[in-house]
Amino acid sequence: MKRGFYIGRFQPYHNGHQSVLEHIAGKVDEIIIGVGSAQLSHQIDNPFTAGERVLMITRSLESLGCPFYVIPIEDIQRNALWVAHVRSMTPPFDICYSSNPLVVRLFGEVGIKVQSPAMYERETLSGTEIRRRMLNNEPWKSLVPPAVVQVIKEIDGTRRLRQIAQDD
Ligand code: ATP
Ligand code: MG
Repeated sequence: MKRGFYIGRFQPYHNGHQSVLEHIAGKVDEIIIGVGSAQLSHQIDNPFTAGERVLMITRSLESLGCPFYVIPIEDIQRNALWVAHVRSMTPPFDICYSSNPLVVRLFGEVGIKVQSPAMYERETLSGTEIRRRMLNNEPWKSLVPPAVVQVIKEIDGTRRLRQIAQDD
């Protein structure tokens, strides 16, 4: 049984993440998706709760065809211990998929195999760009799976983002 681990903040989950996971699904028997900075929400750079992000991911991957687990992971303020923290929260895994240099470094240092998936259309498929578009009332729905559009509608997510971006 080969399990692969993939971590992100998913603020929000978008088509770049979806493409990576569809690729990983062909390489492993099970996928573990870590929802990072799980404790953060209602901030301009982190508008959605861990539970909302779990919903976005679970619904978007309904027809993935590979079993997956979605696990919220809170930050700890000690990078040297972070991999142990992750492993304490997840089923055992053999390989980590990440392009984040710090994540690559930390997993590499403890001898876990890391592969860096290619980036898909990074100028537009980026959480930062999608939040910018939401804030400025520009088109963003084509950059995320339909299930994410639905979740953000249900929680009135764009209004939340615009409201918390205002001054008092
Ligand atoms: P933000 O701009 O808020 O940092 P992000 O788009 O980088 O959002 P993350 O949740 O930070 O999304 O990313 C999780 C993982 O997905 C990271 O390893 C990141 O490199 C990867 N990733 C992000 N965008 C893409 C993309 N367009 N194609 C492939 N991988 C991506
Ligand atoms: Mg990022």
